[in-house]
Amino acid sequence: MDTPLDSASTPAYDAVRPAPRALATEAVHAGRDDLARQGLHAPPIDLSTTYPSYDSRAEAARIDAFATDGAELDGTPVYGRLGNPTVARFETALARLEGTESAVAFASGMAALSAVLLVRSAMGLRHVVAVRPLYGCSDHLLTAGLLGTEVTWTDPAGITDALRPDTGLVMVETPANPTLAEVDLRAVAHACGSVPLLADNTFATPVLQRPAEQGARLVLHSATKYLGGHGDVMAGVVACDEELAGRLRQVRFATGGVLHPLAGYLLLRGLSTLPVRVRAASATAAELAARLADDPRVARVHYPSIGGAMVAFEVHGDPHDVIGGVGLITPAVSLGSVDTLIQHPASISHRIVDADDRRGAGVGDRLLRMSVGLEDVEDLWADLDRALGVRPGQPQVRGLHQAMS
Ligand SMILES: *Cc1c(COP(=O)(O)O)cnc(C)c1O
Repeated sequence: MDTPLDSASTPAYDAVRPAPRALATEAVHAGRDDLARQGLHAPPIDLSTTYPSYDSRAEAARIDAFATDGAELDGTPVYGRLGNPTVARFETALARLEGTESAVAFASGMAALSAVLLVRSAMGLRHVVAVRPLYGCSDHLLTAGLLGTEVTWTDPAGITDALRPDTGLVMVETPANPTLAEVDLRAVAHACGSVPLLADNTFATPVLQRPAEQGARLVLHSATKYLGGHGDVMAGVVACDEELAGRLRQVRFATGGVLHPLAGYLLLRGLSTLPVRVRAASATAAELAARLADDPRVARVHYPSIGGAMVAFEVHGDPHDVIGGVGLITPAVSLGSVDTLIQHPASISHRIVDADDRRGAGVGDRLLRMSVGLEDVEDLWADLDRALGVRPGQPQVRGLHQAMS
């Protein structure tokens, strides 16, 4: 992939590796470094499913090479499931933001996690050690053993003892969905020894945390969330070294969980505003977390030490009433969009996890999870304040606009 860009002789995207640049600069330039010299400004969207080639001997050699190490094909692509130039731009950009050699994109976060599990299982390493809480469906995939894996749940201190000769992966989320619990990635990576650590970095994004720098060998994102950032793309991506990336591309080719090129385009566009969005939403979230912590209607607030745009809180009253009472805030699962969303994990995002396991992981029945967007903080607070209802011991004073609505 270090091919210098000499001419427009190939329609494929040739990644250029420039000198290290600041995150904000990478966010708007990575994956686009060749554009100006091609006379382009916006990246092209290549919707081709197949590519013509008059040299089938050369194609045979390229497919043999892919079967050996899964390296990205040089030059013109062959078939959409083997790789796509628009998606490759997003992969290059995300790898640079996470500080890894490579990244491999998938149709969703769950497709990305599935590919990682299949890569390790195919090597005979079917055992996974994982720390709760994880995103509800990640927990479900591991607990149900749907891909033939076997999981041992433990806390960070128990990781070393839980490792077995057939352990292929250690998995953590930090801050975790939905409690925002944090783990010390450096300590966990050390505890893993030679077993690869996968850190789900969906909540923090590379703006707040770069797990590869702390020893994680695989960094997973549900790109559906902050990377896309506008609630209109489903995608997943794994940032890792080139050796694992090759295996992931081979699994993606064989199992078909590819990302659509239009989604690749939207994600690349989403990355360009990622640092600005995450910082602005985090400032608002920190302010809302502080106000909630001071509010007598709120029993407990969870907000990560590293910051971020997610806030979780437990209410004294009925959490379903809060969900039913929001107006400006949208009552919906998912997160990381420009608008604020709130949901009740025990009913939705973590419903698929067994109730005892869920509660044991700190996901209580009164817990609400809010993804703070880019609205004005006072408008958000006014909506939350209304949805939280009457303060204990304080009669509600109905404003005119409430009486009329
Ligand atoms: C949403 C989510 C996932 C799953 O991603 P999809 O894109 O919905 O498949 C995985 N991990 C975390 C932390 C998530 O929030």
